Amino acid sequence: MIKKKISVVIPSYNEVGNIDLLATRLIAVLKTLPYTYEVIFVDDGSSDGTIEKLRSIGDLDDNLYYLELSRNFGHQNALKAGYDYADGDCIISMDGDMQHPPEMIPQFIEKWEEDYDVVYTCREYQDEATIFKNKSSDLFYKMINSLSDTKLEKGTADFRLIDRRVANVLSTLNENGLFMRGLVKWLGFKQYAIYYQAEARFSGKSKYTVKKMVKFAVQGITAFSVRPLYIATGIGLFFSLLAVLYIPYILISYFTGHVVSGWSSILATIVFFGGVQLMVLGIIGMYLGKLFMQSKQRPNYIIRSTNLQRVNNDLVKL
Ligand code: UDP
Ligand code: MG
Repeated sequence: MIKKKISVVIPSYNEVGNIDLLATRLIAVLKTLPYTYEVIFVDDGSSDGTIEKLRSIGDLDDNLYYLELSRNFGHQNALKAGYDYADGDCIISMDGDMQHPPEMIPQFIEKWEEDYDVVYTCREYQDEATIFKNKSSDLFYKMINSLSDTKLEKGTADFRLIDRRVANVLSTLNENGLFMRGLVKWLGFKQYAIYYQAEARFSGKSKYTVKKMVKFAVQGITAFSVRPLYIATGIGLFFSLLAVLYIPYILISYFTGHVVSGWSSILATIVFFGGVQLMVLGIIGMYLGKLFMQSKQRPNYIIRSTNLQRVNNDLVKL
């Protein structure tokens, strides 16, 4: 009987200090399983020698591969590159910083063998994560769940297994502003959630700065919902209604001779409504921007080099 194959995909951006340990721990786990395997590191334009490291770890095991992207495309696009080129019967994605323990893989496989198509994980908060990270992450999941129809459990991570049939569907999708955890949830199929404690990052520091986190959150919300546009319309309607109610008051004041000459109230109104209008315009602009980016049909990533034979000349997947 032919053994089934597991692919492991690891987006890595300046993770040179983690690769040896991760590869060693990963291989130790994969070797205990009755499957063939491949591990694909996606170097997302690192500047710390990650790619040189990846080129040299081939001695560790025959099934270690790399995809080198032409620049930093961001975590989600690097993940997409890995998903597109992995050819296992299932694909496991994990971070390159040891926060996702490879020892959980047998649990994923067990569920996969029970015929689940997606086994995903939800992070339970550990003490090491900063209060800021916990609270901001909490707020993000609350917002996305109230604004979008695709519900995400709190702490959903990009540490998951997807079956080949899910990977096939994913690779046909060509959308900018990827938000993989939402997209996978949106696809449906039979999904199973595992709760886990994230470990602390082994080496290096988090690549998600506050700026990147805000960008990611906006991407997550706007990729899955146009509800902010409806909310903007709602705000507009609400204030128009207020204005309609206010007009009789002005008229009455005029005819009864109580015209107040207060510039402060006028100024306050102008400033306030100016703000509301700008906000609403901003929301519309955000969606227009997304449409603009999508209309250019640029690929999510570009590959510079790889030791995966199957990629050949197909360096851009559209
Ligand atoms: N990552 C990437 N490209 C980026 C930023 C991050 O490939 O532009 C990778 C990073 O190397 C890691 C994973 O995405 O494997 C998650 O990033 P990180 O650990 O910095 O995020 P955090 O765990 O702090 O949310
Ligand atoms: Mg991390």
